[in-house]
Amino acid sequence: MLAYLEHFVHENDAESRQDDDVATLSKALELQASVEEFGPTGVAGKDFGGIKSVKPLALIRPSAAADVARVVKHAAASSSLTVAARGNGHSINGQAMAEQGLVLDMRAIQDPFEILWIEGSPYVDVSGGALWEDVLKRCVSEFGLAPRSWTDYLSLTVGGTLSYAGVSGQTFRYGPQTSNVTELEVVTGKGDTLCCSQTENSELFFGALGGLGQFGIITRARVVLQEAPDMVRWIRVVYSEFEEYARDAESLVEEYCFDYVEGFVLVNSDNRANGWPTVPLGPEQVFDPTHIPFTAGPVLYCLELALHYRNADHPSRVDTDVDGLLGRLRFIQGLKFQVDVTYMEFLLRVKRVEEHAKGNGTWDAPHPWLNLFVSKSHIVDFDREVFKKILKDGVDGPILVYPLLRNKWDSRHSVVVPDSDMFYIVALLRFTPPPPKGPAAELLVAQNNEIIEFCTSRSLDFKLYFPHYQSREDWIKHFGNQWARFAERKANFDPMAILAPGQKIFSRTS
Ligand code: FAD
Repeated sequence: MLAYLEHFVHENDAESRQDDDVATLSKALELQASVEEFGPTGVAGKDFGGIKSVKPLALIRPSAAADVARVVKHAAASSSLTVAARGNGHSINGQAMAEQGLVLDMRAIQDPFEILWIEGSPYVDVSGGALWEDVLKRCVSEFGLAPRSWTDYLSLTVGGTLSYAGVSGQTFRYGPQTSNVTELEVVTGKGDTLCCSQTENSELFFGALGGLGQFGIITRARVVLQEAPDMVRWIRVVYSEFEEYARDAESLVEEYCFDYVEGFVLVNSDNRANGWPTVPLGPEQVFDPTHIPFTAGPVLYCLELALHYRNADHPSRVDTDVDGLLGRLRFIQGLKFQVDVTYMEFLLRVKRVEEHAKGNGTWDAPHPWLNLFVSKSHIVDFDREVFKKILKDGVDGPILVYPLLRNKWDSRHSVVVPDSDMFYIVALLRFTPPPPKGPAAELLVAQNNEIIEFCTSRSLDFKLYFPHYQSREDWIKHFGNQWARFAERKANFDPMAILAPGQKIFSRTS
């Protein structure tokens, strides 16, 4: 049974017809709960990006996969309805929206949550609408187990991140989150509910992973688990030279000696937005700029590392291991920070950033973020032109840049990455105050476009992560030689293009 459905109040006659549609829909879906009236700027028409907003026809809170299938079948029987699964709406460019369509609030599906042991290894079956932070808390506190691969921020849904990749500091070691699931339950654009894996309905399994929600709605995922560590030594070290930063980061990801490797760019200036105070990890630690060499350029680089350990491990052993590993790195002496935190505190670290941003108004402001994958062979050019020139004043938030290994990504999945054994993720996570304090979002979008234009004009080997394009030609270019496979999967699993219309790849057919 559907939990409930909300519809959006419209102001003119044409739109009052849609009220009838909602009533018909409610009846057709055998909805037990009442139709609730809701303002036109409801949650389903907005996202974290805050750049786009559209009016959906209705927001539906399903309680199980059967409800999702019923909604998709209803849309398929209509001439024009589309269906968007909405995870936690943390998209930037309206990807989880459906103009005049049906939006499914996937968080409403609570079940399943079940630990399984298969051939001696642990897995958890979770709802596609589960938040990763809830998966973490239950797995660790009830079972002492945890997924291996994460995103930095965990108020994201399982189905939402699996529709892209799910990348963080563990990706170099275990691959993206899409490489850490073994089975999915998916409702296709035809309304069929299918279980899929590498061996069963494999085209749907591979297609849905990184599939931008185009082939089906993920209602359940089986996630690989491992024993959760108790503690984490969390370390940050600062570099002035990109070449040295990159050399160290690359050798660390190739050697698998840390459990987590990330890094970010810092502005090298004494202005307030330089980000220096955010680098130290403990209350007693300070960022002392007198250590920065005079030869340093406009930006600095901070390598962020973590090593897991257990309560039973002797502290001096952790110190010895960490000192040994850091001893050969070429960071600026004096700019090394470390702290010991619980595993849960470490994984929930970005929650503190959220609280801070909510406090200063930048959480609810527009977020014109840009995420790219850039091939290792072009990252020095990218650093020279983008970090050191275009972004030399920063982005009012983290600028992530760290290497990933291609062999941890499964090329049968739908996501496309650079054609290189190693590539960097670059993420401009802007938390700019809204005007008049900060620049208009359009100016920041223009800066993103300037960066993309630079990459294109210099023929850098790069791909957008969380891609968004206006034209079919651009999508075809994005997928390159994977386009035919992507389009064929669409024809097989969602031939009328009902699903995820906010991605703007295919148009609904009748
Ligand atoms: P939504 O934005 O709601 O949906 C995204 C897309 O997936 C839409 O097209 C939607 O229709 C589709 N979709 C949603 N649920 C399903 C489902 N069950 N089945 C099929 N399709 C579905 N990403 C990283 O990789 N690493 C990070 O470290 C990271 N950190 C982030 C930090 C913040 C503060 C924010 C805002 C985002 C971050 N992201 C990160 C990006 C995040 O992965 C994406 O926003 C992603 O869309 C997940 O968010 P969501 O669950 O809110 O999905």
